[in-house]
Amino acid sequence: MVTQRVLVSSLRVRALPRQQESSGLYWMVPFFMGLLFTSILILTMDEFMKILSAIFILTFFIPSIALFNFTKNTIPFSVPPEKLSGKRITRNYLKKDKPQYSSISFKLTHMLNNGSPKNRFDIAIIGDGYTQNDNLKGGSFEKHSKDFLKIFFTTLPFKNYKNKFNIYRIRSVSIERGADPSVKDTVNTVFNSAYGCYGIKRLLVTRNTNQIIRHILNAPECDLLIVMVNSKKYGGSGSRIKAVLNGKVKIIPILSYSADNKSGIQIALHEIGHSIANLADEYVDKAIADNYSIDDIKSKPNVDTTDILRKIKWNIFLRMHPKASGIIGAFEGAYYHAKGVYRPQKHCKMRDIESPFCHICRKELVKAIYRKCGEKFNELQYHRNNPIP
Ligand SMILES: [Zn+2]
Repeated sequence: MVTQRVLVSSLRVRALPRQQESSGLYWMVPFFMGLLFTSILILTMDEFMKILSAIFILTFFIPSIALFNFTKNTIPFSVPPEKLSGKRITRNYLKKDKPQYSSISFKLTHMLNNGSPKNRFDIAIIGDGYTQNDNLKGGSFEKHSKDFLKIFFTTLPFKNYKNKFNIYRIRSVSIERGADPSVKDTVNTVFNSAYGCYGIKRLLVTRNTNQIIRHILNAPECDLLIVMVNSKKYGGSGSRIKAVLNGKVKIIPILSYSADNKSGIQIALHEIGHSIANLADEYVDKAIADNYSIDDIKSKPNVDTTDILRKIKWNIFLRMHPKASGIIGAFEGAYYHAKGVYRPQKHCKMRDIESPFCHICRKELVKAIYRKCGEKFNELQYHRNNPIP
């Protein structure tokens, strides 16, 4: 469906918006004020007091300023600017972004617990635009998160690997329901999600990463962050955030989707393909094709520039199962280009969000799940066990 392709293209373009935090220079104000004040004080003191003051500055004042700066737990997220339709994407509109509301409680509820996060794939679900009432037992936050879980575990390949996931939701309270319909701040929500970012109506971006990081401080092991936005309007996006959790710098894939839209969960699943397995979009969209270099295809496991089956990236499967040739092969049209780029199968969720993932994308997702769980993935064995697309 043409409409869907346009919608999905928006999601992909959104893949690298900058999620901006404060400039990180606020500490300079108290630092220099303190320095000025102390210098004036020292000039008026006798020798003994000068020594005492110097000890105070060295042992308390400077370290405390450094500590204050460090414990902000946020690092500005920086990604090179991306070109969109010849227009340079800038971060200007995010400069006004500021925390709007602090949740009182960041309560974490396990929805699926399969053991130590060290060898499990940990997914954290948080919500934007859910009011106090929406967070009550049986409210829309609980309902939307359960809906997600249900569809996630009826979708291949996730349904076969349920025991490898830990899933929890983190309570977050917004003053108002929904999201900003445009980049203008009109709806007061905890993570300040907005449609229309970078001039694309369906690009739904979660803008207040500072608040998100505060919410996930008690979930430092999370491998993927899903933001459900309490809105009916179709939209979504994916990106990454950089945070200091448990003293370690961590880059976490993050995606958002409109959880009250009937296709919302399918958007989320498509985004998971990008986020965890580096899957490329398999649809054609001439309007944005020029924004993506063909060279990027080298790192994408589900698209290739050759149609020679013995050389194509998924040739191992074809050699093991020659009878599947025709069902899996080289289908022209992928990674936004109508010609010269090939995908493994006719239909795939990376091409049309209502389709299942293709056989090759499924394998890549399983490989990613194994990697996060610290387990070795045996591709030959996987193909032996999964012969039929
Ligand atoms: Zn695919």
